[in-house]
Amino acid sequence: ELGLAPHPSKGEFRTIVGAIGERTLEAQQQLEQLPGVDEVMAISQPYKLASREFHEADTILDIKGIRVGGPHVNIIAGPCAIESREILFGVGQAVKDAGASILRGGAFKPRSSPYSFSGMGKEGLELLQEAGEALDMPTITEVVDPRDVPIVYKYADIFQIGARNMQNFNLLLEVGKTDKPVFIKRGLAASITELLMSAEYVLSQGNHRVILCERGIRTFADEVRFTLDVSAVPVIQERSHLPVFIDPSHAAGKRDLVPALALAGIAAGAQGAIIEVHSCPDRALCDGPQAVLPHNFAKLMEQIRQIAEIVGHRVTLWGREDA
Ligand code: PEP
Ligand code: MN
Repeated sequence: ELGLAPHPSKGEFRTIVGAIGERTLEAQQQLEQLPGVDEVMAISQPYKLASREFHEADTILDIKGIRVGGPHVNIIAGPCAIESREILFGVGQAVKDAGASILRGGAFKPRSSPYSFSGMGKEGLELLQEAGEALDMPTITEVVDPRDVPIVYKYADIFQIGARNMQNFNLLLEVGKTDKPVFIKRGLAASITELLMSAEYVLSQGNHRVILCERGIRTFADEVRFTLDVSAVPVIQERSHLPVFIDPSHAAGKRDLVPALALAGIAAGAQGAIIEVHSCPDRALCDGPQAVLPHNFAKLMEQIRQIAEIVGHRVTLWGREDA
């Protein structure tokens, strides 16, 4: 009746109802008088539902039985782009054998050049779904256009919002109207507050299943493709309850640097990483130079498991929690 949209969040000790809308003294007084209301607090941050003030405990998502967030570390791996059945299934099997819990593969690729390979589209989505089922792994793929949300919803388990689309607000609103998890990558030049505001767009539509990802930002350092902002991990975790992943592949731009950045992110407390793997990187149609080979990925998984343990996290291996 006050024109506020309710967003209940059940905690261990209390239920917080986010009341999103214009804050007036009158509304506050009326809410305070309602039976069952303990107190009415204003959330000071511009992002509300994404903030720790609104939801104190870490959010833990259940994605086809795999828990994401809190103490759980999940590794997403696969090729940058879906190129063929053979490569997707081969790389998929290799990353699954190494312990990755979620399969990645792009069917719609946002490219810096209009002349570059832009993905297999629907055919790629069909292959991804088939591979995910065969390997018993949830899948993630990028959606670049609000008009593609229904088709990506049909074939994949997680929507990836790419760095270049982090502030495509219509796209965020569209995936926010669905019930599938949304993995949002930080824009190349976006602040952490802006990333959290993008999450807020999704949450505001009622979809509370959001994962954030630091994938490197633009700096003056030109030895790497982007600069992985490792400090973003604890900073976001202090401000938000949402799971935070890192992407060492797009930050590094070179495969030899991927392990160091992946481990740095996990050591900083990231709840997962998204890593590009390819069986024949020299012939990859997209991001070959940063793709790690399957056997090196397997070695990295073992190091990730050890580092995660040191910081009190547990890696989900083969879809199960590490003992
Ligand atoms: C990707 O994951 O392949 C990708 C394009 O990433 P980003 O949006 O971070 O550049
Ligand atoms: Mn890529």
